[in-house]
Order: sequence, then C-alpha cells, then structure tokens
Amino acid sequence: MIQQPFYSFNTYLREKFGQRVHRISLNAGFNCPNLDGKLSKEGCIYCNNAAFGIYVTTPKPLKIQIEDSIAYYKKKFKVTKFIAYFQAFSNTYAPIEVLKKTYDIIKNFDEIVGLFISTRPDCINEEIMSLISSYQKNYLVWVEYGLQTTHNNVLKTLNRNHTFEDFLIALDLARKFKINVGVHIILGLPFLNYNETVQDAQRLSQLDIQGIKFHILHVLKNTKLEKLYCEGKIKLLTKEEYIKIICDFIERIPKDFVILRLISSADKNYLVAPLWMNDKISIINEITKEFKRRGTFQGYFVG
Ligand code: SF4
Repeated sequence: MIQQPFYSFNTYLREKFGQRVHRISLNAGFNCPNLDGKLSKEGCIYCNNAAFGIYVTTPKPLKIQIEDSIAYYKKKFKVTKFIAYFQAFSNTYAPIEVLKKTYDIIKNFDEIVGLFISTRPDCINEEIMSLISSYQKNYLVWVEYGLQTTHNNVLKTLNRNHTFEDFLIALDLARKFKINVGVHIILGLPFLNYNETVQDAQRLSQLDIQGIKFHILHVLKNTKLEKLYCEGKIKLLTKEEYIKIICDFIERIPKDFVILRLISSADKNYLVAPLWMNDKISIINEITKEFKRRGTFQGYFVG
C-alpha cells in the first residue's frame, strides 16, 4: 500500500478497529438556529441542505435509514462495522430527551461501533455533552463542529452567527469530557486571503482538536452565494489552487490530527460550481502526488 503523506480517516479507523469501517450519514430531522429564525432565517450564505442526498425535508425514520445503509454498504463494500453519523443540520439542537432517544437508536444495531455528531459550536451545553459522553463506554464518539474559519469578520460575512470564541468554549466543553473533536474548515472562502488561511491552520494546530474535515467553497443553487457568484463578486478556487492550498494547510497541522475528509461533494442537480469538485478520487490522488513532488507531509512545518 502507498504510504499516505497525511493521516487519513480510513487509516485511523483501521488502527482502531483492525478493519474497514463505513460511516453512515443520517438525517434525524433536526433544525438549525441559523435557519429557523432563532439567529437568522437566511442561514449561511452557501447553505442549501437539499443539495446533499440525505437532507430531505421529511426524512425516512432513522431505523430505516440505518437498515438501508447497512444493507447497501455490506453488499457493496463487504464492510461489517459502521459509524452512525448524525450529519444533517445541527444535531444537538433539540431538547435533551429528544437527543437521547435519537442517539439511542444505535443501540439496536450490533454493527454500529461509532457515534459521530455534527453541530454548530453554539448548540452545545454541559448537559448535552454529558449525554454524548455517556456513549463513549461502548462507542467511538466524535463531535464535529462547523467552524469554517477562525476569522470573525469572515464568519460574519458568511452569516454564520457564531464566533471563533464560541468555538473555543465548545471545544473546551467537549475536551472536558474527553470527547474527540473534529473541525470543519472551508478552503477558498471569499474575503479570506492566503495568509489568513495559513493563519487558520496555525491557530488550529495550537488547539486540542483531533481532526479536521475539509470542504471546498462551492456554489449551490438558490443560495446567496449563487447570486454573488453570478454577479462576479466572488471567485472560486481552481483544482490546482485547491490542491496547493490544502497541501499548504496540512503541512501546518500536527501529524496526529485525523484528516476526516479532503474534499466535499455535492449533488450535481444543485451544484453550480466548481464542477470538478465531485471527482474526488482524482483530487485525492493529485493531493498525494503534490506532497510527493514537494517532499513534504502532514506536520512538516509544525514546530
Ligand atoms: S449552520 Fe449548517 S445547517 Fe445551519 S445554516 Fe449554516 S450550513 Fe446551514
């Protein structure tokens, strides 16, 4: 097997479980305070949850989602272990009893070995974190926070309605319970220059986080970003620029941060640009080749 110049999620899972583990994306039917009017009704300027297969307004019952996915991936990839990934919207944004009932669904499936919960940094508190922590006895548990950048002025422009400081508080809370934390970062954000992106990597590398999930800024139909893009007010990264910047970023984060994902994908029916982003395998290969060409690897520039 080719030695990867970064610590991939697959490698991490194989180390933990000694075999391939597949992550099942779930829609538990939660909402988001940035969409339901609590903070805003417009959402983040790039948000169109319909663009992801699982983000349908009326999802199937969770049990069916899990059964269908397990059956599909067992047949397709011959995997026997799975992670339940609560991905759609903000998965801690509900009363504690609802959250417990929702997460408890995994107890019905012997094949599930992990619980991953994606949420906003301002949708968490001690009680919820304690509940999430209770699953650590029997499952691999991670919380993923959508951060996108450490720069508050850019978070404001994106209409995220939370700050980097909110994230730091949420991070401390998770680590108090020894829960693994993954951070979502978007590369190619408008109004963020190259040096500020490098600063994102440097700031994150100082923190007690366990993984990073990379997204590329992409334009989806029916979003404010689409309007800005069509008016020529924002520019998207080319494939070559993305490969360069993600390598620069990974060189500046510690070797033990798990790279939860190298690039996002989107439903082609909703994707406006860049269209090349869905060619994931080729992009991952190009990133690996670029590290080889540079002779560098994850953590190369870390102290
Ligand atoms: S926090 Fe997530 S779900 Fe909520 S508006 Fe932003 S991208 Fe959409």
